[in-house]
Amino acid sequence: MHYTNLKTSDSDTYSSLERELARQQDGLELIPSENYVSLAVLEALGSVATNKYSEGYPGRRYYGGNEYIDEIEQLAIDRAKKLFDVEHVNVQPLSGAPANMAVYAALLKPGDTVLGMDLAHGGHLTHGHPVTFPAKVFNFVRYKTDRVSGLIDYEHVRAMAHEHKPKMILAGYSAYSRLIDWKMFKDIADEVGALTMADIAHIAGLIAGDAMDSPVPYFDVVTTTTHKTLRGPRGGMIMCKEQHAQAIDKSVFPGLQGGPHENNITAKAVAFNEALDPSFVDYAEQIMKNTKALEATLKKHGFHVCFGQTDNHLLLIDLTNKNVSGKTAQEALDAAGITLNMNMVPDDPRSPLDPSGIRMGTPALTTRGMKEPEMEQIGEWINNIISDTSNTDLQKQIKAEIKELTSQFPLYENLGR
Ligand SMILES: *Cc1c(COP(=O)(O)O)cnc(C)c1O
Repeated sequence: MHYTNLKTSDSDTYSSLERELARQQDGLELIPSENYVSLAVLEALGSVATNKYSEGYPGRRYYGGNEYIDEIEQLAIDRAKKLFDVEHVNVQPLSGAPANMAVYAALLKPGDTVLGMDLAHGGHLTHGHPVTFPAKVFNFVRYKTDRVSGLIDYEHVRAMAHEHKPKMILAGYSAYSRLIDWKMFKDIADEVGALTMADIAHIAGLIAGDAMDSPVPYFDVVTTTTHKTLRGPRGGMIMCKEQHAQAIDKSVFPGLQGGPHENNITAKAVAFNEALDPSFVDYAEQIMKNTKALEATLKKHGFHVCFGQTDNHLLLIDLTNKNVSGKTAQEALDAAGITLNMNMVPDDPRSPLDPSGIRMGTPALTTRGMKEPEMEQIGEWINNIISDTSNTDLQKQIKAEIKELTSQFPLYENLGR
């Protein structure tokens, strides 16, 4: 790995990082929230912008020497506005969870009710799971997907909204694989006078790449991470209508955060520029095609796809009919070089530490250039491994085949190995 200064100054860290790079190069990354950033994004992340304190916002900072940082943060803001066609953007949230926290702090009072999706049905921890801090401050009530169809039941959401009169309705998921009717959520919110918040952490890249509908025209606030399908650095972002701009900005700083991480913001600017390139539309489209190809292979082998099917970048598989737990499957696949995560399925009778399902997605492999034929091959490997999870010889053999495949889709060649 060509990090010569690091190699000399800290061989321990260097050695771990070198092996992490090899792991990323040799394995198949199917965790749907992961991706590979470009070398340009990596350079921006490792740039001198990390040295700068810049509390405040472009043009009104509490520290001197911010003339160039202002240019960079404004570039990130302007590019995000263009990418999502939105009135106001705050690019400072350190990640997705802090972005959500900042919205709650900006628009809610302690004790206010929020209606969001249940975690096991595809929601996110930050949408009011009892173990989180926001759940101690606000009153979260949770809707679920329909037991039979597996879909969001908008009449159920409507009934809960009328019953609980939430101050805010939340839509946006980490494991739900279907399309979302943003306008329907907005209509329901209007009926009860609720604010609308969309959390597009997972699907931001699909929306930016025109492969999915955007909540921006309808919703008051839209939060996202920048590191999932959007393929930028780890980080968060809040988009909103102009009327909420001041409250959101104040909530991020000084409400919750101190100095923004300007190296991340530099990398966000670079990633947004990449996402504005017409080739990003092809990327988003290929993600969808790849997920469908993987789904078809798994369905052929009798795997149960939660929510009926996938319309986006991810698949949640219920392994109950395979008599294999999510944890066992995750570990067996990991041993063969396939990385994905165990996950709760709707109404899961098992525990989050060993749930019934696994979740997988195609954004990272699509970045590497893999297409439908590779997805079919990967689906076959997944089936073989899960059909015989204690067969370590098989895992070793597949691991070697995977190394052969990934060598044809080089990753970070310029960094060496
Ligand atoms: C990933 C995710 C988040 C949290 O993002 P972090 O960067 O891990 O804090 C929030 N909401 C949803 C829906 C997510 O999928």
